[in-house]
Amino acid sequence: MSVQLAMPAIRSTAPSGQPLLREGVGELRDQCGRVAKDLRVSLTDRCNLRCTYCMPAEGMEWIPSEEALSDDEVLRLIRIAVNRLGVEQVRFTGGEPLMRRSLEHIVAESAKLRTRTGKAISTALTSNALGLDKRAQTLRNAGLNRVNLSLDTLDPQRYLALTRRDRLADAIKGIDAAIRVGFSPVKINTVVMKGVNESDVVPLARFALQRGCQLRFIEQMPIGPRNLWKREDMVTAEEIIGMLSEEFSMTPASVPRGSAPAALWNVTSSAYQGTIGIIASVTHPFCGDCDRTRLTTDGAIRNCLFAHSETSLRDLMRAGADDATIAEAWAQAMWGKALGHGINDPAFVQPDRTMSAIGG
Ligand code: SAM
Ligand code: SF4
Repeated sequence: MSVQLAMPAIRSTAPSGQPLLREGVGELRDQCGRVAKDLRVSLTDRCNLRCTYCMPAEGMEWIPSEEALSDDEVLRLIRIAVNRLGVEQVRFTGGEPLMRRSLEHIVAESAKLRTRTGKAISTALTSNALGLDKRAQTLRNAGLNRVNLSLDTLDPQRYLALTRRDRLADAIKGIDAAIRVGFSPVKINTVVMKGVNESDVVPLARFALQRGCQLRFIEQMPIGPRNLWKREDMVTAEEIIGMLSEEFSMTPASVPRGSAPAALWNVTSSAYQGTIGIIASVTHPFCGDCDRTRLTTDGAIRNCLFAHSETSLRDLMRAGADDATIAEAWAQAMWGKALGHGINDPAFVQPDRTMSAIGG
């Protein structure tokens, strides 16, 4: 089957002026004209799973606690992002963000912030759902708007092999709790790997459609343990669509996807109907529409998941910098954002930090 995935337009690379802020207020613009409004905050680099595509089984070097941002430091940077730099969405991630005990406090304080047009900012969580059954309601009460929950298989043995932990039942409990307390839509993220979980594609689609969740299949990216990723082992978006087409009738959804990474498909079968997203990060990069800025657990700004340099706002903060100076440094860091992630370039070099240490 031949499929068409929407390709984002790469904007002009012509410099559009220096990213100067006025008295520390402005926007996170880069030299290609993209403006970052979506902040990803990694709240910890630790995790209770060890997904093979994300972390090695052993030997991770954790960020020492004194190097990690405190709650007050995280919240100060989020306030600077929203109040001075025009950020409108904050997504909490990791590592596993539910391992941060103060998550509810951080969410509640962030949810009080307003965008420049006076609307509440949008708050979101990316999580493996372990333990969410006990915290879904408190997180919702704290003002969390959206959840993306990761699940790569419905087979307990495969879950154990893939995450190196026997926790499938807990993950499903967490997903069901998110639905029960009213998060809508609950999105489920699935990374598809050759010879590992291709046979889960259709069962996961049924699982999500049955529950009214939006499943998003993600192409595996070279951001996990070193030398693990091989292009020829990657399951492409086209292949995933081909697998789904054997069970479902699929038509591209007409809604424009904007800066959202997933191309949406309307899927129907005699029993199910809904929407499934395909995130073709490798074969159809969406860098041209990227509106993200990332803050690591230890307070560094990364202008791209695949960036090779970082700017430590923690060091500035701890040296006594005021908010305007920190905002300037953040804007400067984003100004240097590369046009694309470069995965498809033969000279591509994987960054030193893995996904769990950057914040997915
Ligand atoms: N622990 C949380 C979770 O798993 O949802 C949040 C952090 S995790 C790094 C964020 C997302 O990144 C997950 O959906 C995970 O599947 C995805 N991810 C991790 N490594 C990846 C890789 N090499 N390629 C594509 N996606 C990856
Ligand atoms: Fe943990 Fe998420 Fe990485 Fe899996 S993908 S090891 S759950 S951080």
